[in-house]
Amino acid sequence: ASSSALPNIQSAAIQKTLTTEPKPLVAKEKLLFGHTFSDHMLTVDWTRKGGWQKPQIIPYGPLSIDPSASVLHYAFECFEGLKAYRDAKGNIRLFRPDKNMTRMNSSVERLYLPQFDGAEAIECIKELVRTDQRWVPDGKGYSLYIRPTVIATENTLGVHAANSAKLFVITSPCGPYFPTGFKAVSLYCDETNVRAWPGGVGNRKLGANYAPSVAPQAAAEKKGYQQILWTIGEDHELMEVGTMNLFVYWKNEQGELELVTPPLDGTILPGVTRDSILELARSWGGIKVSERKVNMKQVAKASDEGRLLEVFGAGTACVVTPVNRIHFQGKDYVIPLDPAKPESQAGPLAARVYDTLTGIQYGEIESDWSVLV
Ligand code: PMP
Repeated sequence: ASSSALPNIQSAAIQKTLTTEPKPLVAKEKLLFGHTFSDHMLTVDWTRKGGWQKPQIIPYGPLSIDPSASVLHYAFECFEGLKAYRDAKGNIRLFRPDKNMTRMNSSVERLYLPQFDGAEAIECIKELVRTDQRWVPDGKGYSLYIRPTVIATENTLGVHAANSAKLFVITSPCGPYFPTGFKAVSLYCDETNVRAWPGGVGNRKLGANYAPSVAPQAAAEKKGYQQILWTIGEDHELMEVGTMNLFVYWKNEQGELELVTPPLDGTILPGVTRDSILELARSWGGIKVSERKVNMKQVAKASDEGRLLEVFGAGTACVVTPVNRIHFQGKDYVIPLDPAKPESQAGPLAARVYDTLTGIQYGEIESDWSVLV
């Protein structure tokens, strides 16, 4: 039989085993990102011969895998990150989950692991969220973080295609990224370490992209900066900031107001927030919106000439993170936030993006990007 005849993920076949020991909820003010997990998890096993097995919702707990499993040796792992938001009426909503499933299928493809039916996987995730709905905190800024993961479980050493895999999803209640309003961050432009490169895997959400980023991040912190500005090449082309996509808002050399983000050339993670910001900014009009390469020399020049208006990171965790300073080749370039509101830690464009995206996520602004669970 051709592999397309093998079973795909089928949400209708979910088997549920509920916990007999539900955990107490953590007070929402005490939540630390990624520290608390809900009562259940979703698992779906796959084998090359048998395809996807029945999805299981089971009590949250340790996985049992063989020490020879490929994930433990060669980093056959990819993951996603999205959130469930509780709106003012108490409904639970996801934000563009189809985008996460498309990206996860792109990640598993690069690991030579099985692609799956994204729409069916979303239905399984919805059922997991419904099962653990008491873990979705209420209040704007609060959410249930959802972490889908795929690992290869093949029990043989040797670098080759894995014949068995497991998709699992865990969830974690979390609080607002900026509990007391925006907090702008400083960036250290790393001239030594490169996060991703042409022909590499920077555009896929592989765990292997993240472990090597921790040492450079720690080094930047030691120097007194909060996040790394990842660049590449002799011209220091901008890539990403920490684990966020990067946006620069400036008056360009032609005198136009322009919002720029690096293009999806294979080295940049195709962020859901990035895509949403581009679409919103294009619909707002009034400024030029560009996906194009921009380098550190151009940013430094714009800063020196007073043309640099805002720099911000964008991602699911924070929506936007304003940047107030970039260190590059021995010099700190200060970025204005909002000259009209000196007390504000975000520029007006970043603030508008934040208000609009959170408005959609929490169901205050009608949009088909927000999907009811
Ligand atoms: N870049 C990197 C390297 C990331 O890990 C993330 C978080 N997934 C992002 C960008 C932002 O992506 P998203 O908007 O989909 O969260």
